[in-house]
Amino acid sequence: MKFNDFRLGSQLLRAVDELKFEIPTPIQEKVIYSMLNEEKDIIGLAQTGTGKTAAFGLPLIEKTDGRKGNIQSLILCPTRELCLQITGDMKEYARYLKEIRITPVYGGAGIVEQIKALRKGSQIVVATPGRLLDLIKRGAADVSMIDYLVLDEADLMLNMGFKEELDAILHSLPPGRRTLLLSATMPLEVEKIAMKHMREPVIHVAGERNRGIDTVEHGYYMVHSRDKYLALKRIVDFNPDIYGIVFCRTRRSTQEIAERMIKDGYNAESLHGDMSQAQREHVMMKFRDHDLQLLVATDIAARGLDVSDLTHIIHYDLPDETEAYTHRSGRTGRAGKRGISLSIINLHEKSKIRRIEKSIGRKIEEKTVPSGREICEKQLIDFMNKVKSVDVDSESIESFMPVIEEKFASLSREEILKRFVSLEFNRFLSYYKNTRDLSPVVRGFPEREGYRRENRKRDRERRRYGKDSGKKTKRSNTGFSYLQVNMGKHDSMLPPQLIGLVNESTRNRNIRLGKIDIRADEVRFQVENDHINEVLGALDGYFYRGKKLRVKRIKKHKTKITSG
Ligand code: AMP
Repeated sequence: MKFNDFRLGSQLLRAVDELKFEIPTPIQEKVIYSMLNEEKDIIGLAQTGTGKTAAFGLPLIEKTDGRKGNIQSLILCPTRELCLQITGDMKEYARYLKEIRITPVYGGAGIVEQIKALRKGSQIVVATPGRLLDLIKRGAADVSMIDYLVLDEADLMLNMGFKEELDAILHSLPPGRRTLLLSATMPLEVEKIAMKHMREPVIHVAGERNRGIDTVEHGYYMVHSRDKYLALKRIVDFNPDIYGIVFCRTRRSTQEIAERMIKDGYNAESLHGDMSQAQREHVMMKFRDHDLQLLVATDIAARGLDVSDLTHIIHYDLPDETEAYTHRSGRTGRAGKRGISLSIINLHEKSKIRRIEKSIGRKIEEKTVPSGREICEKQLIDFMNKVKSVDVDSESIESFMPVIEEKFASLSREEILKRFVSLEFNRFLSYYKNTRDLSPVVRGFPEREGYRRENRKRDRERRRYGKDSGKKTKRSNTGFSYLQVNMGKHDSMLPPQLIGLVNESTRNRNIRLGKIDIRADEVRFQVENDHINEVLGALDGYFYRGKKLRVKRIKKHKTKITSG
């Protein structure tokens, strides 16, 4: 089927052609045909990325009478970003139909400008529910004569608490209108709306109901809870060009994970509901412009964001509802691109993965957290590729060449390469030197055989490369080093408080501390070497009794240890 097969006007077909839409997507085939040739209300089960905007946008424009100035179609959607995106897309479709005016109205922006825009007369209004209701009450938006209503991302609108606004708006619309409801999932609340406000709707499904989009690959890593952050770091390090969202369940963990990542040198920021609208918009803009590589966000806060080229979605915490997993994952693998959705789970969450698999009808592959060696290798290859493909401005460099050649005259080609690589790599090499595997071996699960094989292979490799003994010891034997904290007895920082803070800040109860030396204004304490960076990273900047902790590593403990 082609777009020419629909009864669409030539100006619309020209725009579609220029947008390089050649073949209608499954949801477009069904919804465009139904909107143009039938009378019934429609429910479309479709996620973002399936082409749903054009599925409703093209027939709505086709049905618009440009000679009249009243609102003929109303599109309701959950967020400002989606509102602007839909408007932008529809304006593209209507680029050769200058008499058709499409106006977005949304919360969080000046209402006066929007009232002015509506006064000019628009046939199509794209709105978020709260703002539209406000405009209706002020008499600035007359929706009493509309012919078409689209409820886009209906499940999200209800999840975001717009039920009351939706009910009020739906009651003020003419009963003879035609309604199109689009939703990725069909929870009870959406069904209720459909039953109450729609007339015998026909249901069209884009792909199978509740299926994840096929361009998304799903995987999970199972680690001890205490290793989740380390696993996250490894996943990111293993994917140097990652551009993605890390989902956490709470605002607090969002903030914490983002802070730890920033401290560890990643280009990350958090996005959550405790931030002001201006702060959120600033972060979203940076992320959209690719100035930020990783966004650590809660589900609610990320809803306002629309980015089409994400490479990864990372579920640092699995969501409570499987629908949220679908929404999160649907943010990657868009517009035909490949995307990866990865979950980091603890040893008790496997049943959740099975539930999600059932719900999305797709297999979620178990993966092994990359080893330090694998990460270094990957980073090295990435670096070499960048070196090979860098643009060289030979003309400008030419004049410096004699000096450069003189400087390197005493070094062999191999030496130069090694130094060159070290410059970029020392951080990774030293961080990952002697690190342990994070994926635990679970015995008695035949399905994990392949996984165990992989671990054994890695152990063999490690023995060969002499990184460690390859023995699986539960506790490290690498000794202890000292950390110093800027609070002591005067701040009521005693051993129980210190141990509590280490547990709380690292969320890891299995770190061994050695001797603890409490002084008036500082504490010096030993931490096993395997965890020294983890404790330093977590504790430094942590708050205790309203004061920020400052932690540093000290080389030698000069005075006598008094308690331990
Ligand atoms: P949507 O689900 O509406 O957000 O659309 C996802 C992406 O697919 C957008 O970038 C659209 O421009 C693009 N798109 C929509 N329909 C088609 C089509 N028939 N062929 C190619 N690309 C499309």
